[in-house]
Amino acid sequence: MCWGASVAKLSKAQIDDGRAILQCYFNDFVVPLDVMQQPLGVERRISAKVQFETIEFALNSRYDRLDNTNGNLELIDYKTTKNTTVPDSVDVQLGLYYLALQQVYQQSLKRLTLIFLRSGKSLSFDVTPDHQERVRSLIADLATKLRTDSEWKPKVGGHCDRCTYQKYCTAKTCEPEPLPKGGRELKQVQLSLAV
Ligand code: SF4
Repeated sequence: MCWGASVAKLSKAQIDDGRAILQCYFNDFVVPLDVMQQPLGVERRISAKVQFETIEFALNSRYDRLDNTNGNLELIDYKTTKNTTVPDSVDVQLGLYYLALQQVYQQSLKRLTLIFLRSGKSLSFDVTPDHQERVRSLIADLATKLRTDSEWKPKVGGHCDRCTYQKYCTAKTCEPEPLPKGGRELKQVQLSLAV
């Protein structure tokens, strides 16, 4: 029933492609399992806050699947791209997820697994407290820079879609709204998590 509703507007080629991907996932990742565990969460938004130097950093993201295996959190990220290259920023992202998930679930993230659906390959990264320490020091540096740099230029990109500052942003909006009263004081910065 779900399949029928989801593919209603797709071409035959897209439907065949999707079916082949699902079949591949089932063969490679479901068949070998003895027991299928219920995930802790599927396709959920995750938000957390970290404070440095009186600036509040809002961490926002969305994950595909979160498992809790014997008290160990594992994030699963499904990739449909043909490209299996892992971004250089993966260590930073792991630290950010670590911070965010610890705040939301009061448990530490132990592993991130990327599943490449087209090739049936997967890559896992163990998360250590060191990832958290590195990202904390990175955010602390950022906080110091934001406090001291008089010129901090906005950089437009895909991340703007998730930015709640958009209506005030001179780089993104032709006629930005004036900042709310007292809003010139830097109090909150948003960081988006995406692997
Ligand atoms: S809309 Fe937000 S994320 Fe995009 S450039 Fe402006 S401040 Fe940066």
